[in-house]
Order: sequence, then structure tokens, then C-alpha cells
Amino acid sequence: MKNIENFNKIHKKNLRVAILFLCVAVSIIGLFLLYIHMNKINNVIKEEAKITLEAVSSQNIINLKSNISSKEDLLRELVKNIENNKNFDIESIIKKLKSHSEVNGFYNMGIIDKSGMCYTTLDQKLDLSDHDYFINGINGISQITSGYISEDGKEILNIFTVPIYKEDKVEMILTATYKASDFSKLINITSFKGKGKSVVVDSSGNLVSQVNNLNENKLEVIQEFDTNNILNILKECIDKSGKNIISYEYKDEEYLAYCEKIGINDWHLISYAPKKEIYKNISTINKIALSGYIIVYISMIIFLFIFFMEYIKYQKRISKIIFIDELTNEKNSEYMKLYFKYMSKKDKLDKYIVVMDIDKFKNINIMHGSDTGDKLLKYIPLIFKELLPNDEIFKYQADVFACIISGVSQEDIINKISKVQNRIREDIEKKLIVSMNLSFGVCSLQEFEDLHSIYNNALISKNEIKGNVNKKVNFFNEDNKNKIIENRKFESKFIDSLKNNEFEVWYQPKYDMKTNEICGAEALIRWREKDGQLISPAKFIPVFENSGQILQLDEVVIETTFKDIKEMDNLGLPVKPISINLSRMYVEHIGIVDKIRDLMKKYEVNPSYISFEITESALIKNNYLINKIVLKLQEIGFQVDIDDYGVGSSTLNSIYSSNFDTLKLDKSFVDNIGDLKMDIIIKSTINMANELGMKIVAEGVENKNQVEFLINNNCSIAQGYYYSKPLDKLSYFELLKKKDS
Ligand code: C2E
Ligand code: CA
Ligand code: CA
Repeated sequence: MKNIENFNKIHKKNLRVAILFLCVAVSIIGLFLLYIHMNKINNVIKEEAKITLEAVSSQNIINLKSNISSKEDLLRELVKNIENNKNFDIESIIKKLKSHSEVNGFYNMGIIDKSGMCYTTLDQKLDLSDHDYFINGINGISQITSGYISEDGKEILNIFTVPIYKEDKVEMILTATYKASDFSKLINITSFKGKGKSVVVDSSGNLVSQVNNLNENKLEVIQEFDTNNILNILKECIDKSGKNIISYEYKDEEYLAYCEKIGINDWHLISYAPKKEIYKNISTINKIALSGYIIVYISMIIFLFIFFMEYIKYQKRISKIIFIDELTNEKNSEYMKLYFKYMSKKDKLDKYIVVMDIDKFKNINIMHGSDTGDKLLKYIPLIFKELLPNDEIFKYQADVFACIISGVSQEDIINKISKVQNRIREDIEKKLIVSMNLSFGVCSLQEFEDLHSIYNNALISKNEIKGNVNKKVNFFNEDNKNKIIENRKFESKFIDSLKNNEFEVWYQPKYDMKTNEICGAEALIRWREKDGQLISPAKFIPVFENSGQILQLDEVVIETTFKDIKEMDNLGLPVKPISINLSRMYVEHIGIVDKIRDLMKKYEVNPSYISFEITESALIKNNYLINKIVLKLQEIGFQVDIDDYGVGSSTLNSIYSSNFDTLKLDKSFVDNIGDLKMDIIIKSTINMANELGMKIVAEGVENKNQVEFLINNNCSIAQGYYYSKPLDKLSYFELLKKKDS
């Protein structure tokens, strides 16, 4: 059977799903934001890297160009000197060149004769006849070469060549050689803490400048790319108007390279740096962002976990507050509603709701104290659970318990209830608990779909026998059912009936039995349905009292009566005081005195024409409040009558606590006139009323005997069929007119 645990479980599950969903959503959003953030930083850093490489590149190109052109100028100057001096003796030229070579930082200088033989300042004699730069030089072309491995294989060299003319013909070629490593120094502006370097390459991808190491006599070129990389870089660079930035990979390392045309030969400067260095900052920033994200994420998970645990605790606490009765620690009506909600159709088979109420519980509280009352309220569920462990008990209201009991037949239920009753009887005899009686109302769960109806009907069945000493268990039956259906109809029709003025106020005259004169009347409501049929207030008043609609109805009667009195006055009829019934609920309603006063002013009614009847049973509850209202009404000038006197249980007490103007002796008294005992009771009641200065009206006077008895015993006002039944407004007006004439 599903119950409160299921309810909590479902909520727990829903919460878990919600939290999981939240985690996933936060993760996705977080990762997305992180991705955007990282991307943005990547782009910024990439852009910065490009700018840095560009700046380094252009600075290196400027340095390189200025250096090369100054060297070229120098060489040209030397050539000019040789040509002007017309001294083409190689030996003497070499001698001179030696000082120039050292001063200008060349590796060596030399002269190549027409046969291609080169004489250097290092006193070498080399055959360079098959080298391009020799052939170009002979053809009158000055140049600086890409890197050549020196003849001794120890160096990589760049060679400047400038032809020397003799009478317009190339006589020899001046050479100046630069160590490639020194050449590299011309482009030594680095970036990214020295990790970003530059090289010069020609259009075939050959290195012009090289950083080389001479390690144990072995030439080692330090480079961070292969020819393919260079060719790719160059290709893209040439395609894109001489400048370009690209990425490449070399030996599992990624690089970013910026390539720019230098403007010397077909050379390009490539500035490159490992991405790892470029993005060093990015990875630090990203690491910080990622750690931030992880911290936030973990905090959120911890927060949600704590929240979840706290919520579960809170839910348990709340469940206890909502579902458990504080005094008895038993499940309450809310629990029962939930319990019922989760019952399947099958669960409801062969089950009954038993409403169980302690008779006159208030009196037990008054007589034995509230501690004893509380003890009883705790005792009942305890024995119930002990005797009927497979059934359920709920503390429904103050002193009302509702049980869900299984049983194949009504007999089963009666047996179970008897078990409880017997046990209570035994415990009373053993003086374990004070003397008390329980009344039980029973309704099958099959009768209605909703708990409200089932409970109400069990309650009605219980109320029918409440206080009855002989019958303690009452089952809801067909009659009840029809009554309920009819009551529901009343409730649903009420608003429309009000709008359609289907409620009429009738008047039942009160007679002075000595003079046979009308001395007043009671306003009584009638409901005339559309088909003209009259419905008795005895049928609908209890329904509206139950639903609360009586508040509106009482007001309708007050207003109609006031209006009718004004009309009688206008018609010149002899206005007699009229009593108006006030329901208990209306009396307890806040602001009724002001409302009545407003209506009185509206219809200019003299308050001495009006008395309000408050039924005696209303006085049992909330005595203090009603006394206050009675006083307020009397202050305005209205009279207040105690109605149905003798029916309730604390009659004398209610007379004592309020100063009523009139006592209306209930019909049940009048009916029993002639019974010796009753005659004594009536006589003393009349005496008591007279001595207290109260008027007395006998209700339900139906025959002459009753009239005579009442007159003889000093009760002179009667309201009853003997004199007149309640009359509709016009008939009552007619009667007044007739009496007046
Ligand atoms: P109640 O206030 O005790 O009203 C007297 C009832 O006794 C009236 O029934 C009246 O018709 C009836 N009655 C008077 N004389 C005799 C008689 O000689 N013999 C018999 N058998 N009955 C007599 P009614 O009008 O059906 O009203 C029933 C109850 O409905 C009233 O009892 C009152 O409690 C309630 N009620 C009627 N009108 C109103 C109303 O306007 N407001 C409220 N709140 N309750 C009303
Ligand atoms: Ca009345
Ligand atoms: Ca009455």
C-alpha cells in the first residue's frame, strides 16, 4: 500500500531528477562559456603573436637590409679604388684586403680571377670556376649568395661578389665571405623569450642565414623546420602578396611562422616560434579558468548535495507537521487524504471508513480536566492499533477519529468495533480510563469516489446516533445517500435561486391568547422553486448551514423583512413586531451588527419592531461571543429572543449568561402538555421567565387544551397552527388589514 513514504519518495525522486538536470545544464552552460572564453583568449593571443612576429620580422629585415647595403657600399668602394688605381695585381690587392676583412667582420675576402681561381685573405687558393656566383660575377652581376659550405667543410658561408672592371670588361671579382652564423646575427631580434627566431630563405627553400653549431668538429645546423615546411610557408606567402602567417608541425612540435619578402635577391624572412611558447600564457589563463570552473562546479555539486540533504530533512519535518497530529502523534486528516489518494480501486474493495467520536467530550474536559481529555485522545488510537493492527486510524478533528477498516460484510465491521468497545468497557471497569462512550458512523469506500463524501456520510451517520445510548454504530444507507444527493442539489442551485428571487419570507403571526389579537409574527423563509413548489426550510437550512451559504440567506431574510415592514408602514397597516431567525454561523460572523444597522437605516425601520431569535443550541458553543452580539443588538434597540428553549443541553446556563428579552418555549414542551411531569416543568419555566422579567412565547400551539393550560399558567403569547400557519406576505398583510378594520 502506498502511503506517506511513497509521497516523500516521489518528491525525493523529483528533486533528484531536478538536481541532476540542473547539474547537467550547469555543466553544459559552463563548458560552453569556458569554450567561448578560451576561444576568445586564443584569438587574442594569436593576434598578439602575429603582431609580435610581424614586428620582429620587419625589424630584422630593416637590420639585415641596412647591414647588407653598408657591406655592399663598402665593397663597391673598394672595387672603385682598385679600378681607379688600375692596379690589378692580386697579391697586393689581397694584402690590402686583409685589413678590411678583419675590420669589417668578414670571415675572409678574396679575388677571383677570370679563370675562376680565388685567392683569399686566409691565403687560400680555391677553384670556384663552377660556382654560380663566379659565373654571375664574370657576367657583371653583384650578389650575395645563400649559404655555402666552406671548402674546408667547417663553415656555412654567405658570399658577396662584386665584379672589378678593367676597361669595361670584368677583370676579376671581389669576394667577401660572411659566416652564416654571423649573418644570422643580423637577424637576431628574437621574440617569446628567445624562443621565437628568424631565418632567411631563398625561393627554392634554401637557407640563406643559418644558426649553426660546431660540435666536435661536426657541423650541425640548428633548425626547427624541414624543407617541406619552408616550401609550404613560402608558397602561401608568395600567393598572398609577400606576407603570410601559417602554422606547421615539426618533430611533434607545433609552430607559428610569419613570412615576409625581404627585397634582396629572392629572399624571404621567416619568423617562427613554437606554439607552446606563444600559448604559454593561454594555457596558464586556461588552466586558471578551468580550475575556476571546476571549483565552481564542485562547489555547486556540494551545495546541491547539502541542499538536497537539508531539503529531505526539511521535508520530513514538514511532513510531520502536516501529516501528524501534535497531541497524539498519530496520522491526521491530511495523511488520510493522501493515504486515500494512493489507494487503488482494488485496495478500496471491502473497506469502510469508520468515524468515531467521544460522546460529550467537552463535558469530560470540563469535569475531569483537559489532561484527562488528552489522555483519552491518546488512549483510543493505542488500543485501536493493538486490537486491529491491520487497519488504519487517523486523528481527523479535535475529538473525532477516522479509521479505514477492512471487512467483507457489515458484520465484520461491527465485530471489529465491538472488540474496541469491549476493551474500553473493561478499561473503564479497571478504572484505567474515565467513563465514556464512543459513537461510530460507517460508510463503505465503494459508496462514493471522493474521500470528502465518504467521510461526510460516515460523519452524518455518526451524528444521527450521537448521544443515543442504545445505538452506537450506524451505517450509511440509501436514505442518507438520497438525502446527500438532494443536499448537493440545494447547494448547487443556491446562487441562481438567489438571483431569481426564489426565496420568499413568510410570516407566522403570534397571538395574545387572552385577547385573540395578533401581537407579532416570526419571519420564516420559504424556497419557491421555478415550478412553484415550496421547499421547507427544515430541508435546506441545515444544508446551507453546513455549506456556509446560510450567511447570505440570513441577510436576505433580514433585508426582506425590513423592506416589508416599511411597506406595511407605507400601506398604513398596524405594524406588529417581527422576529427574525439568526443562524449560529451568522451570529458569529464578523461585522453583522454594522450590517444590520446599515439595513435598518436604509429601510428606516424602528428597531423596536424587530427581535432576533437565536436558537438555544447556538449558545452552547461560543457563549462569550454570542453574549457580546446580544448586547450590541440590544443597545441599538432590537430585542433578542432565545429560540427552541428546552431542546439544548445547557438551557439554564444560557439564560443565565445573556439577558434575553423573550423565551420561546419549544414545541416539544408544548406537545407534551397534559403530562404531569411536563406540566410541572412548563409551569416552573414560565414562572422563572416571568421572574427574570422575560416575555414568554409558546411555540407550536395546536389545540385548545394547550391554550387553556398556558393562559392559566401565565403564558399569554402563542405561535402555532391553532391560531395560524405561516402566511405568505400578501396573506399576512390581508390578515393585518382585516384585524385593523
Ligand atoms: P423555528 O425557528 O423553530 O420556526 C418555527 C417552526 O415551527 C416553523 O417551521 C413553523 O412553521 C413551525 N410551526 C409553527 N407553529 C407550528 C405548529 O402549530 N405545528 C407545527 N407542526 N409546526 C409549527 P418552518 O417554517 O418550517 O421552519 C423550520 C425551521 O427552519 C425554523 O424553526 C428555523 O430553525 C429555520 N428557519 C426558518 N426560517 C428561517 C430563516 O429565515 N433563517 C434561519 N436561519 N432559519 C430559519
Ligand atoms: Ca424561530
Ligand atoms: Ca422555534
